[in-house]
Amino acid sequence: MITENLKNVKDKIKKTCETNNIDSEKVRLICVSKTKPENEIMECYDFGERDFGENKVQDMVDKYEHLPKDIKWHFIGHLQRNKVKYLVGKAYLIHSVDSRRLLEQIEKDYKKEGLTANVLLEINVAEEESKFGYTTKSVMDDLEYISTLENVKVKGLMTVAPYTENPNENAKYFKKLRELSVDIMDKKYDNISMEFLSMGMTGDYEVAIKEGATHVRVGTGIFGERNYK
Ligand SMILES: *Cc1c(COP(=O)(O)O)cnc(C)c1O
Repeated sequence: MITENLKNVKDKIKKTCETNNIDSEKVRLICVSKTKPENEIMECYDFGERDFGENKVQDMVDKYEHLPKDIKWHFIGHLQRNKVKYLVGKAYLIHSVDSRRLLEQIEKDYKKEGLTANVLLEINVAEEESKFGYTTKSVMDDLEYISTLENVKVKGLMTVAPYTENPNENAKYFKKLRELSVDIMDKKYDNISMEFLSMGMTGDYEVAIKEGATHVRVGTGIFGERNYK
């Protein structure tokens, strides 16, 4: 079942790229394996997938310990400052950086180990009360500070669009994220690149790709419904 789903998702990504003249090499699929057991992750791995997403630090660390070391672990959940230290050397990309205090902590914990964190800034484009993230305005206040960091590299932006029955309604939020990345790039800060746009989930990844996503995060569409106990 998982392999079938995966084929299906990869097919849709490929088709969306073809219809929109997008180089499909530029769109990376992240299999969001949160709450899912290791054998199901290995099913994707055996199919050739290497990028997986987790939203809880402990789960990501456990899976990191048990599963093949060539897996790239994407941390996509809300990150508490006291847990940053557990991700050092294990997270390939942290998608969910949403405050200056968190940036300070990442800088500190990575510096201690002599490592550099690759991160994305999470933007709450639709300004939903229930979501974490910078607003498109507030992120601007931290760019100067970010350009001084030595052990944190900002690689782009991430957003979680609102839940909707009609994914086309999210096109405007994806567009806004892309426009924001262009605005930030134009400011030419040191240490801030805008090569990645992490946007699009099971319900709206095709729309996100059309709007320029470089990373899509698909969970349910691959693993089926999650079972939260
Ligand atoms: C759970 C999650 C996903 C995957 O959601 P699906 O709708 O199951 O594809 C993507 N991004 C984030 C940040 C998540 O927490």
